[in-house]
Amino acid sequence: MNQLPDPSTMRPDAGPPAAEAGGILTIDLSAIAANWQALMRRATPAEAAAVVKADAYGCGLEQVGAHLSHAGCKTFFVADLAEARRLRAVAGEATIYVLNGLLPGTAPTFAALRARPVIGSLVELAEWDTFCSTQQWRGGAALHVDTGMNRLGITPNEAAALAPRIRAENHGITLLMSHLACADNPAHPLNEKQIKLFREVRLLYRGIPSSLANSSGIFLGNAAHCDVVRPGGALYGSNPTPGHANPMRPVVRLDAHVLHVRSVPKGDAIGYGAVWTARHSSRIAVCAVGYADGYLRAASASDEAPGADAIVAGKRCPIAGRISMDLLAVDVSALPDNAVRRGDVATLIGGDITVDEVADRAGTIGYEVLTSLGRRYHRVYRID
Ligand SMILES: *Cc1c(COP(=O)(O)O)cnc(C)c1O
Repeated sequence: MNQLPDPSTMRPDAGPPAAEAGGILTIDLSAIAANWQALMRRATPAEAAAVVKADAYGCGLEQVGAHLSHAGCKTFFVADLAEARRLRAVAGEATIYVLNGLLPGTAPTFAALRARPVIGSLVELAEWDTFCSTQQWRGGAALHVDTGMNRLGITPNEAAALAPRIRAENHGITLLMSHLACADNPAHPLNEKQIKLFREVRLLYRGIPSSLANSSGIFLGNAAHCDVVRPGGALYGSNPTPGHANPMRPVVRLDAHVLHVRSVPKGDAIGYGAVWTARHSSRIAVCAVGYADGYLRAASASDEAPGADAIVAGKRCPIAGRISMDLLAVDVSALPDNAVRRGDVATLIGGDITVDEVADRAGTIGYEVLTSLGRRYHRVYRID
């Protein structure tokens, strides 16, 4: 095992000192590792890879990559070459697949980084082939077969036509891949259809490891596991089984500094648009986090519709009014006087407020909340 670097020193943009920051973001790396191990156990004997695209879902590519690598993860998926480069710097021996595949002219960079493109079309395959044969490159690549999502991937018919050639020529395809469109909804008929179609393709590519399941796919049972599973969201605590209890450990905590607690008379409005009116004389904690920090404006509250909550002095309190760029307001009227003061924190994510709950209040999914996590926070990386 490699030496585990100190995660707090790993990126230059770890944010301002805690005392100066509007928000404090705590990422529990041990929980990410525990989630990875739990998913691995569930998928055994398949290998558990880790998807660390989009800055590891906002949690920090270097920190998460190094920690999972140390925990024993050997295969990673990123979205593009820039992410592959960052990951290579902290996970020297890892196998790195680049999900968005090969942009024109980038094959030499793949070789230099020892990264593997996930090839998603026949033209991409042709460009990769040419590079590999002229440069004698044997670094491996995944072949993505589309089984119903119509995003990336060659068609099953193209895959069938290619199979004899790829098997005969020791082609350097190291993974056969497809992606589920509806895995978070086990009742959706497309799951069965994609699993079946991918099984047929795999039979033609016998001997090449295969991979189908994302986080939710791991919970669809053995038929979806194949040889390698590719969890992303569940590693970071998002519930892979919506509608059921979340089997994953929470990873992210977000605390906002309270700048000021003010009294608002009954009938006065708060914030832009004056869409939230005090129904009685209220106390409002103004907090130093806003939508520019990735705390989604769609989680705002109006007289018509509540928004997200915060935990202040141990109690759930509702957001009041529109979320501004750098500020939001929390109605702390239900707390005893002086329970919250300037310099205290309001917890926006943490305790029983999950990433998925915030997402739900904003009309989106946990993935968007995670990948929006801002750059102005003071970041704390926890290892138990
Ligand atoms: C993002 C992604 C994953 C991970 O999906 P989660 O739902 O976050 O687990 C797996 N495979 C592909 C192709 C992806 O794009």
